Amino acid sequence: MSAPEPVRHARRLSKERLRTLVRELVFDGGSLPAWHERAACAGMDETLFFPLGEGGPAGVERIAQAKAVCAGCPVRSACLADAMTRESPSARYGVFGGLTATERGRLYVQLRDHARHLDALTAAEAEPDSSGAVA
Ligand code: SF4
Repeated sequence: MSAPEPVRHARRLSKERLRTLVRELVFDGGSLPAWHERAACAGMDETLFFPLGEGGPAGVERIAQAKAVCAGCPVRSACLADAMTRESPSARYGVFGGLTATERGRLYVQLRDHARHLDALTAAEAEPDSSGAVA
């Protein structure tokens, strides 16, 4: 068994360049939400959060590093909520809010199922019982 590959040191992006890329690629050229200014990942190596094509130990290590940054990020909940509003198969890339694309996909299914359950409960409560009274 060979030793794991060392984590590749990719170029760093300036904070402004990163914001421009996120605005163009993630928000379709629209304005960034205000919380973005306080993101812990601002100015960091973007390949840490978008480890495209990196499987194996190196990819796993990069994802772990990205998640460690997210864990201490003051805007993690806003970031994750935002990522979830954009959740779709075509948007499943990168680490946002401390979750990988696969993890966000699973969370989306859980949230959807929970919402359906709540809707069914609400509908059942609104139905008149056999006496005709509404609960
Ligand atoms: S939660 Fe992670 S991806 Fe989101 S802004 Fe913070 S550091 Fe960046």
